Amino acid sequence: MENTIGIDLGGTSIKGGVVNAHGEIIRKAERDTGKKVGKKEVLNRIKLVIKDLLGDDIIGIGLGSPGFIDSNEGKVLDIGGNIEDWAHTDIKGELSKEFPNLPIFVENDANVAGICEGWIGAGKGFRSFAMLTLGTGVGGCIYTEKEGIWNGNNFQGAELGHTILYPNGRECNCGQKGCVERYISGAAVERIYEEMTGKFKKGKYIFKDSLTNDVDRELVDKFTQDLAIYIVSLKNIFDPEGIIIGGGVINSREYWWEKMIKYYKEYINDDKGLKIVPAIYQNDAGIIGAAKIVFNHIK
Ligand SMILES: [Zn+2]
Repeated sequence: MENTIGIDLGGTSIKGGVVNAHGEIIRKAERDTGKKVGKKEVLNRIKLVIKDLLGDDIIGIGLGSPGFIDSNEGKVLDIGGNIEDWAHTDIKGELSKEFPNLPIFVENDANVAGICEGWIGAGKGFRSFAMLTLGTGVGGCIYTEKEGIWNGNNFQGAELGHTILYPNGRECNCGQKGCVERYISGAAVERIYEEMTGKFKKGKYIFKDSLTNDVDRELVDKFTQDLAIYIVSLKNIFDPEGIIIGGGVINSREYWWEKMIKYYKEYINDDKGLKIVPAIYQNDAGIIGAAKIVFNHIK
């Protein structure tokens, strides 16, 4: 049996898994990414996770990383996402020194989540889809059957979190103002709540309390409208078969999903039956999608 290793590199943890050709995870390993440990140590920890998983069955390694990723070279470009000192890291080059006999592939983490959903998840069978990952930030992925994942001319394509929703709006850490990410991510909901009340509350409780509390309800309603508005734009730009919504915020969808669909139908000019669906693979999408990249390249 030939299996691959998928590594999901996040700001908090490095999760790895051995994945078979059906997308099943056979073994897992995990380590903390570590805050402010520097790129050398992060790379070292990635290597340790890989070593925990290696076996005779492994035919390659795939890794999903935050930031802008040159997936041809396997390098991080100017922006390294939420890992400190991560920009300009030659991930593939460094890992190849340690594992010279295995092919290594690196891709942006939101694209990796999209690859997983397209393979065995909510996007299975879709000829085209856009995926939004609503977490600390907002990740994006554009997929078509013909082109595969859309990377863009500078590997900055499908950065769906950094399209502008409100001109001159909230400042984003990307340098723009009014980015989607500042309004419909989990962190954005928490930040806006704190501004409104002077108190911090975890996103999942804000969504839950929207049933009973006016402030929470107003905030969640605005989030729901903003998301619906953005889906209208995505539909009109790409006209995909489906739109997949993933990320931690999806765990609270019982409090906003139906309303979001209602707003979308109210705002859209001509719906044509766009399939708006929640992602299926939450925590394992990064491992499975990264492992799938290896299968894609080898077959
Ligand atoms: Zn931005």
